[in-house]
Amino acid sequence: MPNPSTAILPTRAKIVATLGPGSDSADVLRKLIEAGVSVFRFNFSHGVLDAHKKRLSTLRAVATEMNATVAALGDLCGPKIRVGTVPRSFASKSPTVHGGGAIELAAGQDVLLRADIAEASVDADRTPILPVGYAGMIREVEPGHRVLINDGAIRMLAVERSESALRCRVTIGGPVTSGKGINLPDSEVSAPAITEADWSCIAWAVDNSLDFLALSFVRRADEVRALKRRLDDLRHPGSSPIPVVSKIEKPQAVADLDSIIEASDAVMVARGDLGVEMDIAQVPVVQKKILARCQYFGRPCIVATQMLESMIQAASPTRAEASDVANAIFDGADAVMLSGETAVGKHPALVVETMRRIIGAAESHIASAPHHDSPPQHLIESRYPTAALAHGAWHIARDIGAKLIVCWSQAGGTARYLSQNDFDIPIVAYTSDPQAARRMALLKGVTPILRDPPPSGLLRDFTDIAERDMLSRNWVTQGQPILLLAGKPLGAAKATNSIATLYIGDPHGGFRSHKS
Ligand code: ATP
Ligand code: MG
Ligand code: MG
Repeated sequence: MPNPSTAILPTRAKIVATLGPGSDSADVLRKLIEAGVSVFRFNFSHGVLDAHKKRLSTLRAVATEMNATVAALGDLCGPKIRVGTVPRSFASKSPTVHGGGAIELAAGQDVLLRADIAEASVDADRTPILPVGYAGMIREVEPGHRVLINDGAIRMLAVERSESALRCRVTIGGPVTSGKGINLPDSEVSAPAITEADWSCIAWAVDNSLDFLALSFVRRADEVRALKRRLDDLRHPGSSPIPVVSKIEKPQAVADLDSIIEASDAVMVARGDLGVEMDIAQVPVVQKKILARCQYFGRPCIVATQMLESMIQAASPTRAEASDVANAIFDGADAVMLSGETAVGKHPALVVETMRRIIGAAESHIASAPHHDSPPQHLIESRYPTAALAHGAWHIARDIGAKLIVCWSQAGGTARYLSQNDFDIPIVAYTSDPQAARRMALLKGVTPILRDPPPSGLLRDFTDIAERDMLSRNWVTQGQPILLLAGKPLGAAKATNSIATLYIGDPHGGFRSHKS
């Protein structure tokens, strides 16, 4: 466990890391948390639920042992068509293939796609037959349409279809492994937004108390609302429904961005599929646009895919990748994500450490640049009292030169509003609700701390707790100004209504003069 007295404050932007065979052991998970991961992603598109279950229990055990507050995000497959199992009998020479088998496709050769087989095989004339997870595909893809595998790395054209098989000709080859995604940018695919398989993953996520669920291939806001309604029905009594992260990776979603963002709890710029579904030249533009609209609506936004891709193999990133991570931070990303880099990569902990150093350097640059002189103006939610308090706190913090903001945020709302106001000082948020603490792990600038409220429930006792804690962590020194936000009684949800300034060590500061 990191010694609290020497622990440095984390970066403001958060790191999301995908788990997979490369990061299953308790030892690697411990290193990933130490290196700065706040949110772990479980991609239901890969591996069986049992493997995810095992991962989740290892993660929870490690987090408890380290006293670390980290969230678990389940990523639903959605209507993405995927390659079925490529058995180990297809041995691979490729260094990027982890476990399982791989079929090496070469330009010019033919491949058959079938939905009625579970495992890849070859037919009598040695043509590979790939299983695909969606039967409608054989009908919905017409000759001449593009069939792309693995975020477009492998490219084919449909040439002919029969009752049960689609024949494709490879234009750009590469290794095909189990579960790789298939994109059909020319075809009208009728698969529902939330598939049968997704519903069982959703039930699993609720049973296992995941902290977030990501919905892939969102096309319309009503798909997000349908999932949120279902999660509300399924929630455990006394707990809040799992928040939904909408993955923006379809042109339809980009065209209807505002209503999707407003319907969602958080958003992900899912660049892998976005770069295949749209002209890749649009990806950087769309990324900037999504980040700007998320700031307008006050929704956390995660930038994902290939951020440090070369580190799946290499021990250092390319210059372009380092710039990509930094630019996402400059554009206001709340979190940046690692996919294959931590799921199957060679250096899972090193890649997180590298990402954290790039974020740290970008944030120091932002902090040293001339400061903007008002918080974001258009937060739709600022008609709520807590949002208005958070907004006011921004001005008070700047006027007194506060080093930190400390709040009691039982259900996470105060922390979220503070995060949305884009402070350039850290926000420390206390709660006694473990799930609320874990969900705060995604919020930019927020460091959650789990503890019971003082038995008195009094704000003046909170002042003592905050002062002692911040001093013992070396996050402040005597005499430095901080801001406190809380409400009565401490530990109740939706109670925040008071704000106070405290110069550390001042016996009358903070809420100390409050009688109740
Ligand atoms: P998505 O579109 O949801 O991002 P993806 O197929 O791109 O799906 P990522 O989670 O981005 O998957 O991970 C990148 C690659 O890492 C995957 O294509 C897969 O090869 C590998 N991978 C990820 N998670 C696992 C896992 N649990 N088991 C095996 N391989 C995995
Ligand atoms: Mg991906
Ligand atoms: Mg995707």
